[in-house]
Amino acid sequence: MKLGLFGGTFDPIHNGHLSMAAAFADELALDQVVFIPAGDPYHKTTATRTAAVKRLAMVEAAIANDDRFAASDIDMVREGATYTVDTLQILRQYYPNAEMWWLMGMDSLLGLHTWHRYQDIFKLANVAVAARNDEKIQQVAPEMRALVAQGLSQATSASRGQLRLLQWQPEDISSTQIRNAVKAGTPIDAWVPKPVRDYISTHGLYR
Ligand code: ATP
Repeated sequence: MKLGLFGGTFDPIHNGHLSMAAAFADELALDQVVFIPAGDPYHKTTATRTAAVKRLAMVEAAIANDDRFAASDIDMVREGATYTVDTLQILRQYYPNAEMWWLMGMDSLLGLHTWHRYQDIFKLANVAVAARNDEKIQQVAPEMRALVAQGLSQATSASRGQLRLLQWQPEDISSTQIRNAVKAGTPIDAWVPKPVRDYISTHGLYR
């Protein structure tokens, strides 16, 4: 079993997320990519973010027609801050022998050394990074360099401990840009699948 795990705010999910997940699924021959929306901020005083249940509903609407994709509320149902290392620890209990890949963009890799117990992430899973053909790889933190070098050499497959770089050109889309467009009343058809557009309009999100 080869599992891709894709965490994000997904406020809303967009075509950039979907095409990145599909590219990873192809490249790594994943059986399934699980989208994991972040929970509601536990310390929030003002609601600046769409409720987690609505963000999850949009993810489910977006992936309904693709068997390779699934969604999980694992980060929505825990109390307090949710750390990736804890998410992986829980998932390991369900899938002790799976080849698990935590999927991320290049920007996330540049901050990975600041993540809570980031070394333990590699004891539980592999990490796959969508890297453009750009020079950002030079900015990676010193403590990540050995792993990146290993990733560039495309080390053999293992269920945990490796970092893989996927050469891929991300689409120029962000959730922020979609929220701003809805607010301004301009079309978002090119950026999100129709079921997500329908959900946004039915629920009056981002106005
Ligand atoms: P926002 O604009 O609200 O910050 P976002 O579009 O960056 O949102 P997130 O939900 O924060 O979306 O992103 C989740 C993950 O998806 C991150 O790992 C990020 O690197 C990746 N991602 C974001 N935008 C794209 C894109 N256009 N193509 C591929 N991956 C993306």
